[in-house]
Amino acid sequence: MNAYQAGQYRDTWIEIDLEAIADNVKAVQALHDTDINVMAVVKADGYGHGATQVARAAIAAGAQWIGVALLEEAVALREAGIQVPILVLGRINPRDANVAQQYKISVTAFQKEWLAEAKTYLDTNTPLNVHMKCDTGMGRIGLTEEQTLLDMVKTILMEDAFHLEGIFTHLATADEWATDYLERQLKYFQTYVKLAKETAGPIPYVHYSNSAASLRYPGTDYNMIRFGISMYGLVPAVDTAADIPVSLLPAMSLHSRLVHVKKVAPSTSISYGATYQASEEEWIGTVPIGYGDGWLRANATNGGEVLVEGERCPIVGRICMDQMMVRLPKELPVGTKVTLIGQQKEEKITIEEVAQRLSTITYEIPCTLNNRIPRYYYPAEKQ
Ligand SMILES: *Cc1c(COP(=O)(O)O)cnc(C)c1O
Repeated sequence: MNAYQAGQYRDTWIEIDLEAIADNVKAVQALHDTDINVMAVVKADGYGHGATQVARAAIAAGAQWIGVALLEEAVALREAGIQVPILVLGRINPRDANVAQQYKISVTAFQKEWLAEAKTYLDTNTPLNVHMKCDTGMGRIGLTEEQTLLDMVKTILMEDAFHLEGIFTHLATADEWATDYLERQLKYFQTYVKLAKETAGPIPYVHYSNSAASLRYPGTDYNMIRFGISMYGLVPAVDTAADIPVSLLPAMSLHSRLVHVKKVAPSTSISYGATYQASEEEWIGTVPIGYGDGWLRANATNGGEVLVEGERCPIVGRICMDQMMVRLPKELPVGTKVTLIGQQKEEKITIEEVAQRLSTITYEIPCTLNNRIPRYYYPAEKQ
């Protein structure tokens, strides 16, 4: 063990409820036919929750696949003992195709040149599993010409180094109320799938649904869904949250403890810039978390609050790199628990609330809380 491990001594921590992850996987499965595969998407260290722990919990709950963004994320999961199929959703460098092959990691392809170059790094004993990515309106990665699709399918069929394992696309607006753009994307995708199948015959995996599509339009999926944000118990968009037919259980909560409590006189200033002044005699508590942990300064604006003894307390003054101050309803002992995300008694601060405070989406909040904050898992993992 390292002499120093992040969070070994500090009083700020994240709790991850792996049972919530499992329940969310089961909830989305219950919406779908039993032959639909669930790919648990754990890129960016499981949206900040811990990729390995989340992957294990999701697989135990019935997820058949794991999705990541980077080859290194996939390799790390293999090294941690994850054996189910893993798909890298982003583009890997063709010169690393042999690494994917060696670790039995499926990859995304959408360029003819990529296939040509990757081939030179591969052996032909165990073909590299390829999922063809079609850009049907996301404008990010993916082929956009039917001819490219046909050329690539033919190359994959011809070369022993490749196996056509899947075809997929990604939706740009599945979390919005309007459906015309989504319907247009699906129509393009159907055309691509039909063309590919005419040449290749059956393709094992055809997939397009992210969390929003898999929850809002179950039954229209092909045979796999890619389940990311909602596996963590978060809605893809606050605006269309009411359209989600299951109750999601948030897995992450964030806590700290008061390290200093003091009574200040009226007009005492708090923190950098002296932007906050006590309007009367106030109890001020100091909490050891700041923007150095990814707890951004903007949390002090737009009515940012924390929970102490089940009561909402405002964050006062500017958030520093490692500490911030809150106004307490009364004198409280040093060591009192402070909840920044999560529940205390009847009160709850959700990631949705924090996202709205920061004028952003739910995804950004857990991803931004960095590894200076230790993650604790419960129920304790079976090793
Ligand atoms: C991240 C990602 C997903 C998961 O999306 P959520 O909205 O988090 O469910 C699915 N597919 C691709 C290609 C992705 O990059």
